[in-house]
Amino acid sequence: MKIKKLLVANRGEISLRILRTAKELGIQTIAVYSDADQGAPYVRFADEAVGIGPSNASQSYLHIEKILEVAKTFKADAIHPGYGFLSENPEFARKIIESGLIFIGPTPEAMALMGNKLAAKKAVSDYGIPLVPGAQTPIQHLENAKMVAEKIGYPILIKASAGGGGKGMRIVHHPSEINEQLERAISEAQSSFGDPSVFIEKLILSPKHIEIQILADHHQNIVHLFERECSIQRRHQKVIEEAPSPFVNAELRAAMGKAAVLVAKACGYQGAGTVEFIVDKDRNFFFLEMNTRLQVEHPVTEMITGVDLVKEQIEIAEGNQLRFTQSDLKINGHALEVRVYAEDPQNNFLPSTGQLKTYITPKGPGIRVDDGYVEGMEIPVYYDPMIAKLIVYAENRSLAIEKMKRAIEEYRIIGVKTTLSFCHWVMKHESFQSGKFTTGFIEDYFKPEMLQDNFSTEELEIAALISTFHLKTQNAGPILQKDQKPKSPWRKNRI
Ligand code: ADP
Ligand code: ADP
Ligand code: MG
Repeated sequence: MKIKKLLVANRGEISLRILRTAKELGIQTIAVYSDADQGAPYVRFADEAVGIGPSNASQSYLHIEKILEVAKTFKADAIHPGYGFLSENPEFARKIIESGLIFIGPTPEAMALMGNKLAAKKAVSDYGIPLVPGAQTPIQHLENAKMVAEKIGYPILIKASAGGGGKGMRIVHHPSEINEQLERAISEAQSSFGDPSVFIEKLILSPKHIEIQILADHHQNIVHLFERECSIQRRHQKVIEEAPSPFVNAELRAAMGKAAVLVAKACGYQGAGTVEFIVDKDRNFFFLEMNTRLQVEHPVTEMITGVDLVKEQIEIAEGNQLRFTQSDLKINGHALEVRVYAEDPQNNFLPSTGQLKTYITPKGPGIRVDDGYVEGMEIPVYYDPMIAKLIVYAENRSLAIEKMKRAIEEYRIIGVKTTLSFCHWVMKHESFQSGKFTTGFIEDYFKPEMLQDNFSTEELEIAALISTFHLKTQNAGPILQKDQKPKSPWRKNRI
């Protein structure tokens, strides 16, 4: 069935990104927004925009009934959940389908299965997918935990079965700590995810996080769109991503791709999804989990394959067959993405709220900025502090790194502290450049004092004032003497 009117149940950059593709496909669009997002670019971009309540997400972006009501009142025939919020909520998907609308994503059953890490492991183990050594059942007692830990050997990781977003994980190095950590893990799992079930995995040392993008239609066709390397992480959360991975050779790529397709088969998957693996230094890979939605880092895959993943999601949801087979897909060039957060990398990445007094994005060939803000806007305190995703594309990895450095240098953000300087530092790091880095990169190498503090907000504000003045006086006529070189206040600040 052709989709005529799409409601995007999300906000910020991802809402805008989805709305853009919908518009290109000739689909009418509806945006929903909370009080905090009234002035956001995505709200203006949509054909219709509907306020759904207070800034607090539980009263707006997480409010299933309100969103369904808007969909009915404004006659949407499909809903795209984006990522985060309700995107992995099977109840939301089920209610959308029960209302006679199309949910852009997998079936609620596949979502529920993969939303539980233990159930997912069980489902894929029948298909011969390698799992991280550990127990495939929930751990209820200390004795049980000790037995499993002894068997697989310390250090171990206690994980919440319903966990996500890097939360709900506890490392245990020594048997003496297991009691306390298990108790904490169980109570955290209950309070954060409403499900006390935890399990144990061996802690893989010096690993890489490598994930495979898949697409599956409603006609049993499944393809993978190669890997993304997401090993630059802070607190188990991705900060910088790239495709392809500098660590993956053709043989490993083929094996992981095949495994990912089998994972999709194991749960009867439909739509776009990501199969996450942890890879050890000997290139053994183990299934971690499947994310049943579009991911934050999906643009790097789009850049190297030329496939618009949102377009494919929509076409699959309409019931169309995939227009390409595995052998049609090729990797072209290299893409990098950095997440630009309103956080202070010199102060333990604490959120830095405030107004984007100056906001100028980098431009030029091979640069893509997926953002949800314009100059003058406030970064709301209610949601994830991500301002933008800066994505670059070039012929090869080293050119992509150079392009990313240039793009970061061109980005101008005044008013809030951002992670740009940190990302710039990563680009210049020998371990990052070698491609051999692991998920321990930040912990192993980063110290806040490594960032030069020559981008203090005050200095940048003065620089902005000077450049405004400079521009004005330039417009009024030349103010430089013949032999005088123009000086950029930005450059001065950086030296
Ligand atoms: P989430 O649902 O929070 O994303 P994941 O299982 O995907 O949970 O794990 C998040 C991150 O934690 C991984 O990307 C990886 O860096 C780390 N991690 C998870 N399991 C292991 C493990 N067994 N050994 C080492 N690191 C792990
Ligand atoms: P470097 O690594 O070049 O010694 P910094 O660590 O201070 O310098 O910053 C790295 C890059 O990040 C700079 O080139 C700059 O363009 C960018 N940057 C840092 N802070 C900001 C900011 N507040 N707004 C815009 N860009 C910034
Ligand atoms: Mg994960």
